[in-house]
Amino acid sequence: MLKGKTALVTGSTSGIGLGIALALARQGADVILNGFGDAEGPKAEVAALGVRVGYHGADMSRAAEIEAMMAYAQTEFGGVDILVNNAGIQHVSAVEDFPVDRWDAIIAINLSSAFHTTRLALPGMKAKNWGRVLNVASVHGLVASTQKAAYVAAKHGVIGLTKVVALENATTGVTCNAICPGWVLTPLVQKQVEMRAAKEGVDIQEATRRLLGEKQPSLQFTTPEQLGDLAVFLCSAAADNVRGVAWNMDGGWTAQ
Ligand code: NAD
Repeated sequence: MLKGKTALVTGSTSGIGLGIALALARQGADVILNGFGDAEGPKAEVAALGVRVGYHGADMSRAAEIEAMMAYAQTEFGGVDILVNNAGIQHVSAVEDFPVDRWDAIIAINLSSAFHTTRLALPGMKAKNWGRVLNVASVHGLVASTQKAAYVAAKHGVIGLTKVVALENATTGVTCNAICPGWVLTPLVQKQVEMRAAKEGVDIQEATRRLLGEKQPSLQFTTPEQLGDLAVFLCSAAADNVRGVAWNMDGGWTAQ
């Protein structure tokens, strides 16, 4: 379905980003990966699906590096047809104790990076009159939790950005939508489970049960594979008129 398209997925060396990259590659899209840590393993996983794979290690907190990544996509792949803004970090702390450098980093990586990639990808998408911008927001783009001021502010901001980009391109073949996962068991959440286990003096299994029980009525984690399939749907022709939505996949979290 996506043969001939190039997908750039930020923060795709692990977790949800890698799940989405693999799902798009299974549909035939060439993929540009981005993110920290080991890139060779993820590159090999994508390449095994028979598509072309690239990698750029831009730090999403730096506009100049994002510009270099988008230039690489243009030179090496002829541009980006599917942009998945997924890179994100978390820090958990009360507002009055929130480290200023963590606030700045979360706003830069979880919000401003999506502005930079999108502004740079749109001209090429509009020229082809086809494009997909998928912003991996969160249930925290729709509702709040304590201790997550920067993350909740950034994710609400991402949903606002999603709506503006959708409206500005509403008469074109370029759509922009947000995906809002609830709990997904990735390294980002594993850290929160471990912190909870230590704080509450319980084992990992009990901390996991408490984490899910508190917010996610299904008591099941959403998986990167399920989110990948949602991304594929949003790239399909069936989703041509899905514009500016914030689509939750959260086991009922935001239905409460
Ligand atoms: P993860 O930690 O497994 O992956 C994060 C990815 O972002 C990694 O590839 C990492 O290398 C990359 N990254 C981090 N900082 C970066 C930077 N400065 N520049 C470039 N890449 C950077 O986390 P995840 O859970 O897969 O999260 C992916 C996205 O999904 C995030 O935006 C997160 O907020 C969102 N999300 C996650 C959950 C969840 O429960 N895991 C729920 C809702 C939303």
